[in-house]
Amino acid sequence: MAERRIAGAPPLEFDLPVHGGFAPMGIGETFPDEALDADELEIAGEPGQDPAAAFRRTLGMFATGVTVITTQDSEQVHGMTANAFMSVSLRPPLVVISVDRRAKMHALLNEGRRYGISVLADEQRTLSDRFAGRTGEATEEVEFDVVHETPLVRGALAHLVARVVRSNWGGDHSLFVGQVEYARYGEGQPLLFHGGRYEHLLERAPVFSSLPPEILAAITAEGVERIFEPGEFVVREGDPGDELFVIVEGDARVERKGSPLATFGPGEFFGEIAVIDGRPRSADVVAASPLRALVISRELVRDTVEREPRAAWAMLEVLAGRLRDD
Ligand code: FAD
Repeated sequence: MAERRIAGAPPLEFDLPVHGGFAPMGIGETFPDEALDADELEIAGEPGQDPAAAFRRTLGMFATGVTVITTQDSEQVHGMTANAFMSVSLRPPLVVISVDRRAKMHALLNEGRRYGISVLADEQRTLSDRFAGRTGEATEEVEFDVVHETPLVRGALAHLVARVVRSNWGGDHSLFVGQVEYARYGEGQPLLFHGGRYEHLLERAPVFSSLPPEILAAITAEGVERIFEPGEFVVREGDPGDELFVIVEGDARVERKGSPLATFGPGEFFGEIAVIDGRPRSADVVAASPLRALVISRELVRDTVEREPRAAWAMLEVLAGRLRDD
């Protein structure tokens, strides 16, 4: 059958033999015989839709995190925002990224080249925009940590360094399979992308800490102090969400199935959502050091809110702010 390709011939580095004793087998050596154009797609729903736009919107329904792909060419560091990142294999450790063939990054990646993946944290949205070329004149210097001669965006939630072991044709994009040489994960909330816009997890959205101080003081006034030894469970996953905690001294670590999710320090609250909806705890909280916390029961919180109508309104304002896409 005649070979048919879209988006031009694949670039030269494609399907080069892989050296160094690592020889992946299977697909990736050939191109599809029949490549459909996006305009030929069958689109369900309203007639007259632009098939390519509908295809794009369909893909956008898949929620992802956001990464910055980085690489270094002599002294020059180049970064690019990408959500087309996927884990491939644990043994050997492999990941893949999909890069637009028009992107500058595309010209920098080839077999043997290392790329870094920085999984962005919720508060790194501006970096995502920056590395997507969406911001105007950049003001602040971006800070990188260099591992395996590969720059990684400082403050990201997770880092990986991978070496390109295979590059595959992917239409107007290319797939760069990387063998992972370095991995690091931290704690915090990820930046999310869905339907063409940024989103965030509401799991750890602060409610009480955002209330006006006088209302907060009324809620915490009747709290009872409790002390925990390092390593002691403060709450366990599945426990009833009947208490709100404010840390007075020390640190508490939030864990799920033994994996750390976040750390809270003095002045920080936890159990904020559970104390409102009364549902079971979604994670363990363990004292990371000698811990002194103020504990306020669900009944006390409810009594205060019922006594003080301004408190109810303030909480609604905080919750509405969480749902707004800022
Ligand atoms: P450029 O457009 O030249 O650079 C990108 C930006 O990064 C520029 O503003 C540049 O100033 C800045 N920059 C680069 N290096 C540095 C540095 N060392 N210090 C400071 N700033 C620097 N495209 C894909 O191909 N695949 C994807 O998976 C993908 N996912 C995306 C997900 C999201 C959420 C978004 C917003 C965009 C995504 N894009 C993706 C689009 C891609 O990020 C942009 O097209 C990007 O501009 C391509 O970068 P480039 O390599 O062509 O370099």
